Amino acid sequence: MAFTLSIHPWVFVGKFNESWSGDFIEQEHLSPEEEAALSEADRNALHERRNSFPQLPLVNFTSQYGLGCFEGVKAFPQKDGSLKVFRPEENSARMSRSMAGLGMPGVDEELCTKAILGTAGRNAELGFTVKYNPQWEKDSFQSAGSIYIRPFSWSEPGIGINLSKNPWLVVINTEVSAYFAGENYNAVTTDMIRSNHKGTGWIKCDANYVISCLAKNQAIEGGFMEAIFLDAVEQKYIEEGSSCNFFCLKKDGTLVTPELGDTILPGITRKSLIELASDQGVKVEERKLSLEEVLDDGAECFVTGTAAGLTPITSLTHKGKEISFGKGTPGELSQSLLNELKGIQYGVLEDRFGWMVPVIS
Ligand SMILES: *Cc1c(COP(=O)(O)O)cnc(C)c1O
Repeated sequence: MAFTLSIHPWVFVGKFNESWSGDFIEQEHLSPEEEAALSEADRNALHERRNSFPQLPLVNFTSQYGLGCFEGVKAFPQKDGSLKVFRPEENSARMSRSMAGLGMPGVDEELCTKAILGTAGRNAELGFTVKYNPQWEKDSFQSAGSIYIRPFSWSEPGIGINLSKNPWLVVINTEVSAYFAGENYNAVTTDMIRSNHKGTGWIKCDANYVISCLAKNQAIEGGFMEAIFLDAVEQKYIEEGSSCNFFCLKKDGTLVTPELGDTILPGITRKSLIELASDQGVKVEERKLSLEEVLDDGAECFVTGTAAGLTPITSLTHKGKEISFGKGTPGELSQSLLNELKGIQYGVLEDRFGWMVPVIS
């Protein structure tokens, strides 16, 4: 649905051997128009060949034991026709921390940022990009497209229980549309445990996504948009969504988001939203947020992430009981923060925090 896996031709493959180095690689391709004109079978075969990296070993610590981590970054087509990436240095810094957290050498942040900006720039030059569409302004960019950039680590060959000492960094691009397709904005709590203290909850790692995928699938099968995780110890405090951070505007006008610790992923969109809301004069608190407080006293809720952007949550169901927030439609603050975030990302509002970085070729 939202993710179409047609990897764009330019990829980046780097590796750690005493130090980090790597190259941009142009995978097999035709022009975007020629590829569109192919039969579906031929196009799929071409895309499968593009998703093939013969230099990467199949059996290794990532494929066998989940010792891998990744990032999600977006390049946004700008109103002025250029292409810019949202806070790529933040993603490179987190990628490096995640790798170190998994016991492997952290990626060279400058190299990672160059790979992020350089793959998007090179692909755009070949025409593999998304063009700005003024129609997007009509729904606050909820239906807008962008380029999804996925850096990830991949370990050297191995099968014994061990850490990766000489990982690869791979960066691929693909096209995305809205992540939450907007059928509904209803969320449901899950009693599955995504992360616990002394674990890997703070790391953007492959292994954490096992539970996220299962819980999200359960939520969707139940007719909900998203699953909300509670803390592992008491099942009392809200932690986050399956791949996004959680915010609740209290009826007294305070915006609360669960404080970071070792069980919550430090989202870059979360951090940006805290800055945007504070800048609008909203009082923002990072602290423990109980489920009870949200159900009793929540006026608006939303989740944030690179894929989710800012997505309103209009109701939360816990143990079969549904509570709607406000009028059961996206609230005023959610809407105004969404307009601001997307406005900055798509270049219709001034980039007053210096978040947007042009792609390079
Ligand atoms: C990636 C991710 C987020 C969102 O982080 P962003 O930097 O805003 O994209 C939130 N929670 C989890 C578990 C994640 O993996």
